[in-house]
Amino acid sequence: MTAALPLRAPTELPDLEGASALEVLRWASEQYGPGLTFATGFGAEGCVVIDLIARARLPVDLFTLDTGVLFPETYELWRQLEARYGVTIRGVTPVQTIAAQELVHGPRLWEREPDRCCDLRKVRPLRAALAPFDAWITAIRREQTPERATARLVEPDRKFGLVKVNPLAAWTHDDVWAHIYRHDVPYNALHDRGYPSIGCAPCTSPVAPGEDARAGRWRGSSKNECGLHTEATKP
Ligand code: SF4
Repeated sequence: MTAALPLRAPTELPDLEGASALEVLRWASEQYGPGLTFATGFGAEGCVVIDLIARARLPVDLFTLDTGVLFPETYELWRQLEARYGVTIRGVTPVQTIAAQELVHGPRLWEREPDRCCDLRKVRPLRAALAPFDAWITAIRREQTPERATARLVEPDRKFGLVKVNPLAAWTHDDVWAHIYRHDVPYNALHDRGYPSIGCAPCTSPVAPGEDARAGRWRGSSKNECGLHTEATKP
């Protein structure tokens, strides 16, 4: 576990409950300016947030964690979103390539120690990527996992030491897809092939009808989160 960090830009955080996602994004953009970034994993929710940011022309930095083992369909979606909205989504990579990681930790670390693999390929790169910023936007929704059930629209993120903005926290699955269809937002082709939640290719499988949307993530393991949205330990 990571120790809790003080916020880099300590401010009184408002209670924005009831505000629309766009109102939350506008507030964050005005409040933090160039100190605001959005980390997208290219899930359906992330595509919605990019659509909202781009159509409102909010000057928000955009990046993704490129673990090196994303699906080809995800890399294709990355290109589609940049072309559609005229934006640049920076790729943030781990210190080690997959080949270098295999030399140190052995092959397919994700099968043996997925928490260590996520730490090396997601959590550490995210911490480094967030270091210059005062606030970050995420696309998490409360109904996705028990860990996300208490997410607020704006909240302190003491794990990474900045403010966390969750404009879709109160959205339902149907809200997300209604927005995608209404605005013709590009989305991952895998969603139409039984993958409601998409992460790295080695750790994501399709789900059967009736299964939980995240049942295909780290299937066969109790792991449910990468570690990006879990809390820091109290100081
Ligand atoms: S999702 Fe899998 S491959 Fe990706 S960083 Fe985590 S353990 Fe590694």
